[in-house]
Formats: sequence, structure tokens, C-alpha cells
Amino acid sequence: MAVALVAPVLIFAVLSTTSVSAVDDDAVVLRVHHSGQCLDVAGASTANGALITQWPCHAGLNQQAEITETSGYYEVKFKHSGKCLDVPGASTANGVQLQQWTCNGTSAQRFTLATISSYGEIKNKNSQKCLDVYGASTSYGAAVVQWPCHGGSNQRWDVFELELWAGRLIGGPFGREYWVNAFIEPDWIEPEMRQAVSSWNPWGVVSFTETTDWSESDVDFYANAYGQTGWRGLMAGYLFTGSQVDPETTSWDYAVLRLNHFYIKLDIQNNLPNRTQSTAAHEFGHALGLAHTRADVLTVLMPTNISRYDVGGIYTPQWQDSFNADMAY
Ligand SMILES: [Zn+2]
Repeated sequence: MAVALVAPVLIFAVLSTTSVSAVDDDAVVLRVHHSGQCLDVAGASTANGALITQWPCHAGLNQQAEITETSGYYEVKFKHSGKCLDVPGASTANGVQLQQWTCNGTSAQRFTLATISSYGEIKNKNSQKCLDVYGASTSYGAAVVQWPCHGGSNQRWDVFELELWAGRLIGGPFGREYWVNAFIEPDWIEPEMRQAVSSWNPWGVVSFTETTDWSESDVDFYANAYGQTGWRGLMAGYLFTGSQVDPETTSWDYAVLRLNHFYIKLDIQNNLPNRTQSTAAHEFGHALGLAHTRADVLTVLMPTNISRYDVGGIYTPQWQDSFNADMAY
């Protein structure tokens, strides 16, 4: 559903200098490569001794952890229980299944980790063995054990920050419609808007088709000369009543995305259509409920569009973006 163009109240600007949220107190999810499943405290138990398994990623608190670094080693504290990833009895034996236990600062609870948003092994400080999905099983609930490090894909873990607002697109991301309107240079901007949406669809976490009937639209794109506002693009969420919501706290019935020709014209002058597309893909991510990722991670939800595109040439959603979108719904 479209709305009249009024001065936006909420600015979620691509070009803003908004500071990025700190890393170390953010929730992370640990995803193993061979199965695509996540490190999970079985049954969301809060008890000492609850076992660690792999389970389809669902963004529940028993798959979220805070990681805290001390002298190069990390403590992994689960959000649902406040307890720590632990090798039972400080064992050094192969095949011992990990558990959660009251955090105690011992080396049985200290690990080396891949850096955020990269991937690698997770090695226990005491045993010098790696977190391993036993037998490279792809079954739900397969045990996460320690095993000699061998670099196999069942020992390679993505350390991934969830970057989601509390708000979402009400009704979910499948079978939805978008609508485009570029008041200025539609031949340039409209195709980039369409390609931005198309770039999300192949990940399988959203499905949008274009509509020419704005009253049916769930996401409306506009491009216009909004002036020297400081933003290339912005997203605003609205209820059907027409009232605007704060997406950090409240879900929306439909989203309005605006691209500012005042800045986009630089893309046109420099013949950089992908940079315009990047801005549109970024704002579309916001329309789904995605917050900014870290500034040093090359995603379309990086906080600054220009640095994203100019440094990394990133203009389509990356796996971190799709993972967040998947977790949002
Ligand atoms: Zn943004």
C-alpha cells in the first residue's frame, strides 16, 4: 500500500554516521558447515550438564551465545541459561560430548574461535581438540563432541552475529508484492530497484513479485529528489492506519523505501548502476526487519552504502544477510 510522500520522521539512512553496535555483547550463532545446522543446547535446558547438539537454526535463545574474549580465548555463554560451553570434567578424551555448565573461568570453558563472520575451528584451550559434529552426521540432534582438529567441514563453524530488529514485516516474507515508482530517471532507477528485490529471492528466504497495483503492495519503492538529506536511502514501516512505527520495536504492515536522487545521481554520472542497486537491496533488507551488520563485514546490510560498494563491490545479499532474513521469520 502506498502513501503520500511526506517528510519522513524516522531516518534509517545509508549514509549516516551512526555508530555500529558493539560486538562483544551481541548474540552470536555458531553454524557448522557440513550440515548448515546450529550449535544448540538440547531442549533449551537450563540445567548443568545439558548436552550440546546440532539442530536446525531457529534463532532461539538456546542457540544464541555471548562470547567474551580473555587473553585470546573466548567464553561462550548461552543466552537462555547464562551457562557456558564446557568440556565435561575437563576431559581430554576424543568423543566427549560438550555440555553447558555454570561459568567458572577454567580452560575447559575457554576456546579459540574464528573471527566474527568468518569461519573456522573452535578449539578448547585445555584439550586442544576441536568442536566436531560426531561422525559428520547431518541428523538433527547429533552430538557435538571434541575431536582432534582435522579441518573437516564438520569442524568448521561460522561465528555469526544476529542483526535483527524487533519489528518485522507482518505476514512474513513469502508470496508478497512490491511496487516501484521513480519520479526521476525511472529508466535508470526502476531497473535497479527490481534487481535489488530479485537479488533477495534466490536465497529462498523471501519471495516477492512486482505489482502495478500499489494498493496490494507490501513494499513500496520511491525514488525522488529529496535534497541534501544525508541519506541515499531509507526505510519506514507503517501500519494500515497510516501511522509510522519504530522498526526497532514494532512490526509494520507495509514498508516504504525511498532512494534519494540527490545522491544516486552520482552513481548515474559514474555509470555505477550496481551501487544504486546496492542501496535498494540494503533498504529492502530493512523492510524485512534486518538491522545493520558490522561495518567491517561485507554485506548489503553494512551501515554505509558507499563503503560497502566501493570497498567490496557488494551489491547483492550475502550469506549473512540471507541468514538474518531466514532467522527473522
Ligand atoms: Zn541502513
